[in-house]
Amino acid sequence: MPERIRIPEVGRAHDDVLMTMDGFRAGDADWRDGRTWSLVYYAGEAHSELLKKAAALFFAENALNPMAFRSLKRMEAEVVQMSASMLNGPDTCVGTMTTGGTESVLMAVKAARDRARSKQPWIRNPEIVAPSTIHVALDKAAHYFGLKVRYVDVGPDFRADPEAMARRINRNTVLICASAPQYPQGVVDPIVEIGAIAEKRGIPFHIDACIGGFILPWVEKLGYPVPVFDFRVPGVTSISADVHKYGFAAKGASVILYRDMSYLKHQFFVSTDWTGGIYASPSMTGTRGGAPIAAAWASLVAMGEAGFLEHADRAMKATARLAAGLRAIPDVQVFGEPHATLVSWGAKLDARDGGVNLFAVADRLQAKGWSIDRQQNPASIHCTVTSNHDTVIDDYLRDVREATAYVRANPNIAASGNAAMYGMMAKVPFRALVKKSVLGVMESLYGTSIEPPDPDKLAAADAGPLMKLVNEYGGTIDAALGKLEAARGKLFGKRPGSRS
Ligand SMILES: *Cc1c(COP(=O)(O)O)cnc(C)c1O
Repeated sequence: MPERIRIPEVGRAHDDVLMTMDGFRAGDADWRDGRTWSLVYYAGEAHSELLKKAAALFFAENALNPMAFRSLKRMEAEVVQMSASMLNGPDTCVGTMTTGGTESVLMAVKAARDRARSKQPWIRNPEIVAPSTIHVALDKAAHYFGLKVRYVDVGPDFRADPEAMARRINRNTVLICASAPQYPQGVVDPIVEIGAIAEKRGIPFHIDACIGGFILPWVEKLGYPVPVFDFRVPGVTSISADVHKYGFAAKGASVILYRDMSYLKHQFFVSTDWTGGIYASPSMTGTRGGAPIAAAWASLVAMGEAGFLEHADRAMKATARLAAGLRAIPDVQVFGEPHATLVSWGAKLDARDGGVNLFAVADRLQAKGWSIDRQQNPASIHCTVTSNHDTVIDDYLRDVREATAYVRANPNIAASGNAAMYGMMAKVPFRALVKKSVLGVMESLYGTSIEPPDPDKLAAADAGPLMKLVNEYGGTIDAALGKLEAARGKLFGKRPGSRS
């Protein structure tokens, strides 16, 4: 076992520290040139420099105590109000900033649970009704806070089915959720229709606009058809929107908005009896860094509506070119009709010969330097398009054409390596088995080793139990899956991948 790293006995020179860190980046995803499709939202060098300066100005301050740092309180309140105006919030609209979309969704769920606890104390097992495409942060929130999510299948257009959702509401429902847009296929759920149901039943309705909050308003202003998704819908009671996505802020910035204080008040935490004094906190974290709040404020004010409209215009044009280009590739289809700048594509599902293996195509694209976001049900690749991608669309389309042609000519590569592992992971009906192998990966990622894991080795380790099944059940993934499917059908009679 290599020796464990310790804090150096004597500190190192600052230049040396910075140079070492720069060296660490050698194997990182390359995002500046647009070959990364998510994770980074880049609005150019000048904007990035502004964010860094804004963050540096407030890097020591702590928004835990808004009385001590009134500057941060002010900027947080202004970011909340700018977001509320953008999303057509009523005059009563209130909210807080959080560290990201996940924390915003956690807070929406926590607030709904605690509101129900005070208004409907007879509810013992609170539930949420949401479409199956809702972001996994909701699952995490339900898991953390002890609620159950009733997932409802979406329609063939990947949008939520309001009538099916209405049927899943019961006496325990404390929250209804939908997305604008949902992440996997980029379509906006029918918020007006679901909002009418929520309003009639008197149930809070949260819109996860984490990714759409700072782009849909501009897409709509540019004249593209966008279903009404925000506080204009009377049933909508809360909205989450990430400033660190299409708001082009620094990481660690999101907003959670509520129609009025009667909802937000259930988000707060107050303890009156701690030895350390009376303690009140608006959200999950205790200490709240000043830097993300300052950078978020700077981003919104520096961008202005004109800046956001320009970036949205370029991103939408790039998205249209991408979608049209993908649709023109014989082996490929785009899933759904994306309302904004998210595109999901994969192998044609109705191909008579079964089509190309998408995970093999994904491997090929990755080898060409693209960072690839793999999805399941259906197997697909996800692209989050920003203005920064307009220069790479043609390269990407050329590589997708080449990769699909290559996999068509060499179908056997789908049965090995990464592609086989992802193929298995996506389709294995025993989800507990998949979970176990992913947990194994987590343990190796967060274990005692420092060396960043080799992705290929990870895949192989990950596939361990799964690949063993492949070998045991006939040597090919499809044969193994066929057997597993039959076994599962006998046991549970449920289709694979179903979340409900
Ligand atoms: C990104 C995202 C989230 C989670 O946000 P994080 O900032 O990654 O925590 C939630 N919902 C949707 C729709 C998202 O795109």
